[in-house]
Amino acid sequence: MDDCIFCKIIKGDLPCTKVYEDENVFAFLSIEPNNQGHTLVLPKNHSRNILDVTERDIETLFLGVQKISKAIISGLSVSGVNVIMNNEPEAGQAVFHSHVHIIPRIKDDGLHGWERRTPYQNGEEIMIADKIFREIH
Ligand code: 5GP
Ligand code: ZN
Repeated sequence: MDDCIFCKIIKGDLPCTKVYEDENVFAFLSIEPNNQGHTLVLPKNHSRNILDVTERDIETLFLGVQKISKAIISGLSVSGVNVIMNNEPEAGQAVFHSHVHIIPRIKDDGLHGWERRTPYQNGEEIMIADKIFREIH
């Protein structure tokens, strides 16, 4: 897409620090890393996020995420990674080309996950699970 910064990076029209590229995916370091080695993995085909990405692109995207996660863990000698995808602004998405964050983690690195909320009350989790289940075709 013409006005998409990640499409421009993939095409080489904007600079990046590239980590990996194959026929289907492209990966580079985030410009504002949460930890050193914070990598973004993208399908080369443009889509907005998880809601419109094709099955084929999401398949190759997550195969790339797995391959690069393993390389981050061994190459940077870290203990683990968080794999995160933000979808839509309310979920923190700022760049509207599908991408998955791989954030390297080491013990006591000071990054905190989401706070835990109050547990469900009297069976309300059954209703919630059912509302989701009914939408799956
Ligand atoms: P989002 O909030 O959309 O899930 O994540 C956007 C990610 O893209 C962030 O990690 C942000 O730092 C990164 N980012 C935004 N613009 C650029 C850029 O021009 N170059 C690079 N390398 N990363 C970018
Ligand atoms: Zn794009």
